Amino acid sequence: MNSIVGTIGGASPLAADRSPMIDPFGRSVTYLRVSVTDRCDFRCTYCMAEHMTFLPKKDLLTLEELDRLCSAFIAKGVRKIRLTGGEPLVRKNIMFLVRKLGESVKNGALDELTLTTNGSQLARHAEELYDSGVRRINVSLDTLDPDKFRTITRWGDFSKVMEGIDAAQKAGLKIKLNAVALKDFNDTEIPDLLRFAHGRGMDLTVIETMPMGEIDEDRTDQYLPLSQLRTELEGQFTLTDIPYQTGGPARYVQVAETGGRLGFITPMTHNFCESCNRVRLTCTGTLYMCLGQNDAADLRTALRASEDDALLHAAIDEAITRKPKGHDFIIDRTHNRPAVGRHMSVTGG
Ligand code: SAM
Ligand code: SF4
Repeated sequence: MNSIVGTIGGASPLAADRSPMIDPFGRSVTYLRVSVTDRCDFRCTYCMAEHMTFLPKKDLLTLEELDRLCSAFIAKGVRKIRLTGGEPLVRKNIMFLVRKLGESVKNGALDELTLTTNGSQLARHAEELYDSGVRRINVSLDTLDPDKFRTITRWGDFSKVMEGIDAAQKAGLKIKLNAVALKDFNDTEIPDLLRFAHGRGMDLTVIETMPMGEIDEDRTDQYLPLSQLRTELEGQFTLTDIPYQTGGPARYVQVAETGGRLGFITPMTHNFCESCNRVRLTCTGTLYMCLGQNDAADLRTALRASEDDALLHAAIDEAITRKPKGHDFIIDRTHNRPAVGRHMSVTGG
């Protein structure tokens, strides 16, 4: 862990310190998620309002600055980076950042570079993602019905996402599908999604809706506890708990009938914060130490204050001392406001 990777983190001697960052609760922080843009070409009803106010373009970090920030985190022991958003593949020239970070995978400084995407732009980027060192990606897909897909994403084109999935698999990328479980929308369709995913060699993960940001709808109408979904699935499938881990919060079961894995991400019904290893960086250089809390650290000022990384490293260290124990999301009729005001697209899912 203490090996020196000379090319990362600029020329700062602090780049040599690659022991993992430890938070006040003894958790190692080895996973950085980067929302490279809060903009998106979809407007999923559980994620955004149709008419969104996005972060001002002038506040955006350049891709070079994002690369420098990521390199500082790698120098401080981060082993996995996920690019997310908004939609990461709509950020102009995003492949520049992918290629730069891919160098850290190739030289062993990072174990994994990955991304979460809605798939709309995947077909034209799939091969370059693979060539840059990306091996696994998450694609969000809530339904297999093109009309329902248009309803839930408001602006999305189902056939484009299918083309993206085809191209990604052809390029050699392993795909995990993510579906948000939505009451009276896709709950009865999860078995079909499961068969589709497993039939094509993809894992599927289902996610509970989280109360983040104002949307145009009532979240209590959308919220489906996954404990309920699991019981319903057990009527059709044999689910066996397995210890499989991808470094994320999903708990997996093996599905006997399809031979594939199904993950459950349950931020609402089961808090998984005790094993949290991650922090989240926004495209304006704000670091959130927890998805479900408002406390944040401004890294942009430190980044721009000097070309040397010493101030940046100090700002990161200080932020990690403030990583909270966990989140406390609640969705019910008496808590009808979002737990945090910002949308998922600001910090990335
Ligand atoms: N645009 C990309 C995508 O959709 O995959 C990446 C960003 S999106 C915010 C990441 C993930 O967060 C998606 O799987 C999405 O379904 C999920 N998501 C968005 N809003 C959510 C919410 N309020 N609760 C739970 N999951 C949410
Ligand atoms: Fe865009 Fe992803 Fe949010 Fe859907 S979930 S609106 S694709 S950021």
